[in-house]
Amino acid sequence: MAIDLEAKISVSYLEDDFLSRKNIQLGLLRLDQLHPVVSGNKWFKLKRNIQFALEQGKEGLLTFGGSHSNHLIATAAAAKAYHLQSTGLVRGLHAEAHLPETLRNCLEEGMALHYLSREEYSRKQDPDFLSYWQQLYPDFYIVPEGGNNVLGAEGAAEISSYIPEAANLVALPVGTGTTFTGIRQSLPAAKTMLGFCGMKGGEYLQPIIQEHLQEHAQEHLGPWHITAEYHFGGFARHTPQLIQFINSFYQKQGIGLDFVYTAKMMFGLYELIAQNRIENGSHIIALHTGGLQGNNSIKHLLSMHNS
Ligand SMILES: *Cc1c(COP(=O)(O)O)cnc(C)c1O
Repeated sequence: MAIDLEAKISVSYLEDDFLSRKNIQLGLLRLDQLHPVVSGNKWFKLKRNIQFALEQGKEGLLTFGGSHSNHLIATAAAAKAYHLQSTGLVRGLHAEAHLPETLRNCLEEGMALHYLSREEYSRKQDPDFLSYWQQLYPDFYIVPEGGNNVLGAEGAAEISSYIPEAANLVALPVGTGTTFTGIRQSLPAAKTMLGFCGMKGGEYLQPIIQEHLQEHAQEHLGPWHITAEYHFGGFARHTPQLIQFINSFYQKQGIGLDFVYTAKMMFGLYELIAQNRIENGSHIIALHTGGLQGNNSIKHLLSMHNS
């Protein structure tokens, strides 16, 4: 599966008069093309976790996520492809009769789901809580929420090898920062990295990422910055302006963006370019980290679903 999936990665350079006037080359690294649900950076964060589970002779993966989680559905489908079982601990109580589409898809992929109250779910990193679930599933390997562990970051670092050498600026959406840190550690120092956090107050990630990079850095790391200017009200929130951007981007470029991560990044990039805050002559590679399944929850607003 690994080889097949990654063979589909390509770069789509955008044709756009605005970009030509600004003398900017902008390409999207199409990690969204890997697989309909095991898309984008989630595959890279999972691959070494799956490999480890198989080496350890585990029978399945146990992991965590919210009711629209890209990570949860990616884990369900990837586990199935590797003949592993999967169990998901879901944030929030849900009636089986009214499950959000992502959770229904998880069940269809063979994942067993347990619904946890928000309070219980918030113990997701608590050792007692984890050992309770480990006892229930003794032959399962536990992957943290979002695939955010050392193996996840190491897998994400592999994304660097798909970034064209000519790029001087790499843009990507940021959630926990695991993908960002993994890539910064493996990307040549001559390339600047710019992370777009779609969470209100997401600047808090800057010192966390800084610390992580300092702990693990073996050599000089290139410049990087996180912006949380383009949050549109907060994580997984959207505004009419953002929806309109997604629809017009799809009409012009034929590429779908997800409203939680990649749309906020692309909106932000265009804005920074318009304000001349990105160097003239730049060759930008923006990571399309996938996540399109998350658009199911706002299908009625999107032309890519209604054309
Ligand atoms: C999870 C996710 C991210 C964020 O990845 P982190 O490693 O948590 O920063 C970005 N884009 C998409 C589409 C995602 O699903």
